[in-house]
Amino acid sequence: MNKAVYVPPEDQDEVDLGWMREALVMAEEALDNDEVPVGCVFVKEGRAIARARNRTNEWRNATLHAELEAIDHLLPFHTPPLSQITLYVTVEPCVMCASALRQIGIGRVVYGCGNDRFGGCGSVLDVSTSPLLDTHAAYDAVGGYYREEAIMLLRRFYMSENQNAPNPKKKATRVLKTDIPPPPSAGTTPGSSRPSSTAPVREDEDEAPSAAAQLLGRQGMPIGSTLASTPRGLTPAP
Ligand SMILES: [Zn+2]
Repeated sequence: MNKAVYVPPEDQDEVDLGWMREALVMAEEALDNDEVPVGCVFVKEGRAIARARNRTNEWRNATLHAELEAIDHLLPFHTPPLSQITLYVTVEPCVMCASALRQIGIGRVVYGCGNDRFGGCGSVLDVSTSPLLDTHAAYDAVGGYYREEAIMLLRRFYMSENQNAPNPKKKATRVLKTDIPPPPSAGTTPGSSRPSSTAPVREDEDEAPSAAAQLLGRQGMPIGSTLASTPRGLTPAP
């Protein structure tokens, strides 16, 4: 069974958290521009070498996920395999992006919340480590870094009306949920691959992440939104 991997907060590295805050800033920019709020930063040797966020609406291109846009900027200057590079992304990469990351030989992926509908790093398919793929080496993919903030960004997006949808639905009666159940159990430790005895968490414990996951798969016609407030700790990375 495929499962997303969550690192307990007490085991999360400050450097990783710092870069994830930068990814969250990109996700907020996406939200401000009525895009599904997913942001990412690629880091090599302590320096950000690419930042991106979803632009599926802007270009009317459902494949313009944050990760793929950043990869487009990376490849002219970095030759795969990119084993020295870590991706920080607010939501577990989808199957498409997880495959692209495998093909460029990414070294490591750190994400915020899982992607129960489309996740390619364990939630739906295990593209990140599957031995069936005859491409670059498997990469570690671990989540839980500012998970709540990532989920709340998606919820805010979900709360709004989809002005770009063919038949926008009225969602005025919806109430923004702020409670986020913790992962049922811890995932694994940073740097390791799949957990062996723990029960990783899937994003199906309440409706909002799943609803967000639906949106993540419909990035060609997302719903507009305004940013109501700022998640905690959105400060510059080290
Ligand atoms: Zn993707």
